[in-house]
Amino acid sequence: MTEGTEVADVSDVYFFHHLGPLGTLGYVGHLIMPLITYTTVCTFKKLIARGVYELRFTKPEGFTFIAGQFILFDVPLVDKPEDVQTRALSIASSPAEDDLLFVVKLLPGGRLGRWIEEVLAVGSSVTFKGPFGNFVLDRGSRPSPPSRDPSTSLRTGATDPLPQAGEGMKPGGLFFIATGAGVAPFRPMVMEAAKNFPDRRIDILFGVRSEDDIFWNDWLEETSNKHTNVFYHIPLTQPSPSWTGHKGRVQVVAPQVIGNDFTNKTLYVCGNPDMTTEVKRLALEEWGLEKRDVHVEGYI
Ligand SMILES: Cc1cc2nc3c(=O)[nH]c(=O)nc-3n(C[C@H](O)[C@H](O)[C@H](O)COP(=O)(O)OP(=O)(O)OC[C@H]3O[C@@H](n4cnc5c(N)ncnc54)[C@H](O)[C@@H]3O)c2cc1C
Repeated sequence: MTEGTEVADVSDVYFFHHLGPLGTLGYVGHLIMPLITYTTVCTFKKLIARGVYELRFTKPEGFTFIAGQFILFDVPLVDKPEDVQTRALSIASSPAEDDLLFVVKLLPGGRLGRWIEEVLAVGSSVTFKGPFGNFVLDRGSRPSPPSRDPSTSLRTGATDPLPQAGEGMKPGGLFFIATGAGVAPFRPMVMEAAKNFPDRRIDILFGVRSEDDIFWNDWLEETSNKHTNVFYHIPLTQPSPSWTGHKGRVQVVAPQVIGNDFTNKTLYVCGNPDMTTEVKRLALEEWGLEKRDVHVEGYI
């Protein structure tokens, strides 16, 4: 056990169903394991777009993750702090960065949004569990999962000898489609992809409602300037009259950006579930992609 972490008590034993080891296509795991609760401290909180907060936290010692994964924050109810529930947040920093970055779109009246607006402050201590999820860059297929020591991070694969992203992966471009805060996991994923695949085209389609909802424009611009294979596109559904960029929903704009040939793409989709469900349907039924090349995270 490392400083800043504690092993969860028996009430924190979670039953995982269908959470197979990362990078293992088709493997279904049924695992019972204790989870570690980490303690972290908020170091930065800023409103960066309409109803969107950027948050930074210290990275607890011993906490590791893979680009694209999320954690579960313990979020107290503002009016009744002893009532605590978890909320998922994608980690927007890369594993190489010193702190943990998040971006949160507030939902009016929601537990998470109220807690962030009314309670969370720089210096606040917060607990979380994780990392979770297999929404990560495609690791390609492998013959069988590696044998694991149950005392290590079975739930996440974070300490496992994962293959490099791209091993056994379909050749061609990577296409990231997000709406709103759904762009969060794409920041570290794009950083990883840009570094590992300088010869593959990487497109980020980041849809929001209007100019007031855009954020991380500077990061997108900087990344595409630094990596000549990275392109970004911001369509607005309700732009001001002066907007000269793409207009419309991401599912409508996607073919304009890609040029109608999706067959050499691996698709990553993240955001509100209505959008992710529709994009997945289009990808499989109209854009000619195979299921294994469509990776989806719905912010339910
Ligand atoms: C894997 C995963 C990763 C995620 N990552 C992110 C992320 O990086 N960033 C992010 O912003 N979100 C993310 N989410 C979504 C996030 O976890 C929350 O589900 C979301 O922010 C809503 O939580 P909440 O507590 O604010 O809303 P809840 O309290 O759960 O409320 C749900 C809905 O009910 C409405 N509601 C609740 N109470 C009231 C009330 N009193 N009056 C009116 N309306 C009410 C809310 O507006 C909301 O629409 C992720 C979700 C998943 C599954």
